[in-house]
Amino acid sequence: MDDVWDLVVVGGGPAGAAAALRARQLRPEARVLLLDRADFPRDKACGDGIAAHGRDELALLGVPDLIADYRPTQRLAVVSPGGARVSATSARPNHVVPRKVFDARLVDAARARGVEVRRHQVRALAVLGDRVVLDGTVTARAVVAADGANSTVRRLIGISPSPERHTAIAVRGYADVDADDDVQSIFMQRDGWPAYAWSFPIGDGTANVGYGMLLPRLHATGLPGKEVLHGRLAELLPHVSARDLRAHHLPLSPGRPRPGSGRVMLAGDAAGLINPLTGEGIFYALVSGRLAGEAAVQAAGDPLPAYRRGLGKALGRHLRTTDVLALASQSPGFIDAAIDTAARRKEVFDLLVDVGLGAGTVPAPLALAVLRRWLLNTVRRH
Ligand SMILES: Cc1cc2nc3c(=O)[nH]c(=O)nc-3n(C[C@H](O)[C@H](O)[C@H](O)COP(=O)(O)OP(=O)(O)OC[C@H]3O[C@@H](n4cnc5c(N)ncnc54)[C@H](O)[C@@H]3O)c2cc1C
Repeated sequence: MDDVWDLVVVGGGPAGAAAALRARQLRPEARVLLLDRADFPRDKACGDGIAAHGRDELALLGVPDLIADYRPTQRLAVVSPGGARVSATSARPNHVVPRKVFDARLVDAARARGVEVRRHQVRALAVLGDRVVLDGTVTARAVVAADGANSTVRRLIGISPSPERHTAIAVRGYADVDADDDVQSIFMQRDGWPAYAWSFPIGDGTANVGYGMLLPRLHATGLPGKEVLHGRLAELLPHVSARDLRAHHLPLSPGRPRPGSGRVMLAGDAAGLINPLTGEGIFYALVSGRLAGEAAVQAAGDPLPAYRRGLGKALGRHLRTTDVLALASQSPGFIDAAIDTAARRKEVFDLLVDVGLGAGTVPAPLALAVLRRWLLNTVRRH
């Protein structure tokens, strides 16, 4: 059996790497072990979109220039399910970085900060007093479970996965585009709504393209998942020929994250932390990982209460906002009204970006403006 680690992180995606980086940043002498079943670099099905909010987190973790060599873009275009359009410049630049690159760089940064990285798939967990033992061999004072949407550790501590109504599924691929194409585009679809396709140019003549929808809507078609996802991607992006198609589930936030149990903290997808409006999860993974790493090395006893408080402070109001908006967005007319309003008012566009990609909340006057337009559109239609 190993000595006792101050922190063992399971999973080396953005949530796990952030936890490991933060722990060593705050306590450079802390013994931190990062386990992942894969060797890095490894691929991960993702849109690769990293918003400015995610870069703020990288700065907090002490790696501000991690993706500085990738082309920034501020241009965003969205077509709503009913055909309302907005094309505008976002307040701050966003990036598209293949996860094969991004995740490997984060893990390298953790290694450079003194985190020990091992290839190891966690299968068992036992709690022995104030210690957690993984697979009978690795003992930790605290564990951050950042092992993704199908988290083994979450199952082992008895926390159930996201219910199907809070789960989406998406396929992503890569396609050739003009090298000077720098518009991040989203095409929403009325049929099977909520559902949308995206094209996120990377800046090297390729783009990450994909299509995602809610799992119950996919099941309602009665057709094989691959047929539906690939078919709709081709339908919405007809001029694009996508390769390396790969699909994965997205556990959408139900409004309140599941922070863990005892000395085991859940972060990122393992905590069901994906924005239900956009499918954004990298920012949440970085925030929750950072806060879990912080609690692991700073809390005097059980780190979970500190982690829960940290999450509540950083994301509580925002998550409750997205929960309400996700409910309203079940009606495509609501999204039409929101996009229509964003096309007329730049401050609304900026706010939607903050809510969809960061930790933004909606002030009451704005909610009223969207409601007014929704009602107006409904009256006009009838
Ligand atoms: C198709 C698609 C498109 C998306 N597009 C975007 C986007 O453009 N922007 C965005 O912000 N978000 C996007 N998301 C969401 C985003 O991918 C996730 O929210 C994000 O990857 C979560 O990071 P994580 O660190 O929690 O988990 P992951 O990145 O999934 O990392 C989990 C890690 O745990 C490891 N692991 C798993 N089980 C074990 C085990 N038992 N033992 C050891 N290691 C284990 C895995 O190998 C993996 O490295 C998308 C998701 C999908 C599916």
